[in-house]
Amino acid sequence: MISDSELKNTVFHTAIIGAGASGLMCAGSFSQSKIVLDHNPKPGAKVSVSGGGNCNFSNLFVSAADYLSQNKHFCKSALAAFKPQDFVALMEENNLPWQERENGQLFAFGAQHIVQMLVRRARQAGTHILTGTEVLEVKQENGLFLLHTSAGPVRAQHVVLASGGLSFPALGACPFGLKTAQKFGLQVIEPRPALAGLSFPKEYRERFSRLAGNSLKAEVRCEKHVFTGDLLFTHEGVSGPAVLQISLFWTPGTEVQINFLPGQDALALLQSKKNHAKTISAALKDHISAKIVKTILGPQGEDLSNASRLQLENAARALNRFSFVPAATAGYTRAEVTAGGVNTREINPVTFEAKKVPGLYIIGELLDVTGRLGGFNLHWAWCSGYAAAKALEKQF
Ligand SMILES: Cc1cc2nc3c(=O)[nH]c(=O)nc-3n(C[C@H](O)[C@H](O)[C@H](O)COP(=O)(O)OP(=O)(O)OC[C@H]3O[C@@H](n4cnc5c(N)ncnc54)[C@H](O)[C@@H]3O)c2cc1C
Repeated sequence: MISDSELKNTVFHTAIIGAGASGLMCAGSFSQSKIVLDHNPKPGAKVSVSGGGNCNFSNLFVSAADYLSQNKHFCKSALAAFKPQDFVALMEENNLPWQERENGQLFAFGAQHIVQMLVRRARQAGTHILTGTEVLEVKQENGLFLLHTSAGPVRAQHVVLASGGLSFPALGACPFGLKTAQKFGLQVIEPRPALAGLSFPKEYRERFSRLAGNSLKAEVRCEKHVFTGDLLFTHEGVSGPAVLQISLFWTPGTEVQINFLPGQDALALLQSKKNHAKTISAALKDHISAKIVKTILGPQGEDLSNASRLQLENAARALNRFSFVPAATAGYTRAEVTAGGVNTREINPVTFEAKKVPGLYIIGELLDVTGRLGGFNLHWAWCSGYAAAKALEKQF
């Protein structure tokens, strides 16, 4: 614990704002005197709930193509300098078991163990961690950074903004980082919730709300992007991995298409069953639940034996190419990440220092770099935090 007088009288080499994934990784990766501040009562709040409590901490197949950014090349250097195997090595040094799941996703057994490891590592590298402390403002004064915090002023030679995006305000997210970057003259790309569910337009909402809690495998498409995976119906619309992935590419007003029978030609299937089943749901019972079929077909009905060719084509289209323009995403309260953020053209891709503000570093989700679902966002937090630490290590 740092005393009030020590806090007041110390000029830290570095002050890191945010004891989340990127801030803790950065703090543990260089040895100079530093302080990490977070307004949450405990460090690593988001990491400790990540991956459904088991933290999908990285992905074996990570590459620049897994990230959305206006500057596609920005993430390459940091990804090359800190690989999934580097985080696995940390886990193993700390006797933490891990497992590989489908598509190269790497999971821990208990996200809390990762937080404990990051905190221990940061402390061993000479870090004071001050939680329950909000940073209210960052200024430059007499060649130093002066942080106005709820625990009093903090002075440092360098500042790392690791305060994350806007998603999950309940876990500490707030606009502080974006506002601070703007105050220092850095351009911000309009943030938006991503890796979030999509809500149905009004006309579908009531009909589909009866399916809330039902799930199935589906193919979800938005413009040239397609994902196949689980889809979950919610009270407002659709969620689940396939929808979260597509939400990264969805912009308001754009159409989304769902194929509820991926890999199957619904028209051919229905025609082949016309003389054997009375209803469409009976004909498809081996592929999709009757409740879901009836809801998708809605008022057009599901009679099969007396259906005309046109009626069958309409039913097949609804099953293979169900189109709608989502009303919105599920919003920041439920989005896993924030897309957009500080424009990476403002940042040195090797050191993560702001080009216009020497001594100010920006890492993690606050930057306009957003990963797909599958461990890519935490990997970005680790590798950007590590890159900034390696640059700070060289600053005296
Ligand atoms: C529910 C959920 C599950 C997720 N699961 C996964 C997963 O399994 N795999 C994956 O790759 N990604 C996952 N993510 C995304 C991932 O957790 C984030 O991308 C990652 O934590 C971002 O790291 P960061 O350091 O940039 O920000 P954060 O980890 O959010 O840390 C930022 C910290 O800054 C603090 N802060 C902000 N403003 C201030 C201020 N003014 N003063 C003091 N402190 C401040 C916040 O309290 C917070 O602790 C998940 C996200 C959510 C919401």
